[in-house]
Amino acid sequence: MDPLPWYKDGLKFTCSQCGDCCTGAPGFVWVNAAEIAEMAAIVGMEVPAFEARYVRTVGIRKSLTERPNGDCELLDPKTRGCTVYQARPRQCRTWPFWESNIRTPQAWKETCEMCPGSGQGQLVPLEDIRKQAEVIKI
Ligand code: SF4
Repeated sequence: MDPLPWYKDGLKFTCSQCGDCCTGAPGFVWVNAAEIAEMAAIVGMEVPAFEARYVRTVGIRKSLTERPNGDCELLDPKTRGCTVYQARPRQCRTWPFWESNIRTPQAWKETCEMCPGSGQGQLVPLEDIRKQAEVIKI
């Protein structure tokens, strides 16, 4: 049995829908074939057309495309809402409970500084945090 981590009593998170995690500095949102197919279906596009418009290849992996300012192309710039929310990729679903964000109290503090929903609101129990951190290694 793993020793209990520093966040054994849970961490608070309630998304404020600010959209900051989908905008700003360039980055990567890794997607697999199943996720691409689900997003394509949500926006009513064939997979090849969706890939040509919204997916880029990075080495052997695939990531969503961004606007020149770093914003995700699937974010509605007016409402700042995700246009594929129901089919958003694992990386987006599991934010902010990525291994890299919860590795240390300092990493979590930095996450809270970037994301106004982190460290606020609902207390997410250890078991749920662990489940989310295991979905995708980031
Ligand atoms: S930055 Fe945090 S609070 Fe803002 S939309 Fe993303 S998860 Fe929600």
